[in-house]
Amino acid sequence: MSNFICMTCGTQYAESQQPPAICEICEEERQYVKATGQQWTTHERLRLTNRNSIRFEEPGLISIGVEPQFGIGQRALFV
Ligand SMILES: [Zn+2]
Repeated sequence: MSNFICMTCGTQYAESQQPPAICEICEEERQYVKATGQQWTTHERLRLTNRNSIRFEEPGLISIGVEPQFGIGQRALFV
């Protein structure tokens, strides 16, 4: 069982044997599904090509993200 992650938006879904049929976020009319179709990954596969990034942006501001950028480039800012 894996927690599948949408390659386009980065949303992670509940643990399952098979990837979800659709990404509910990307199927919403304000988002999109790539012309190549819905694609999924897992933490295990993502770990082979990407890594977590913790940066001290300036005094009192730390960013936490993923490199190279994944999904829509989400990151957290810790103030
Ligand atoms: Zn998605």
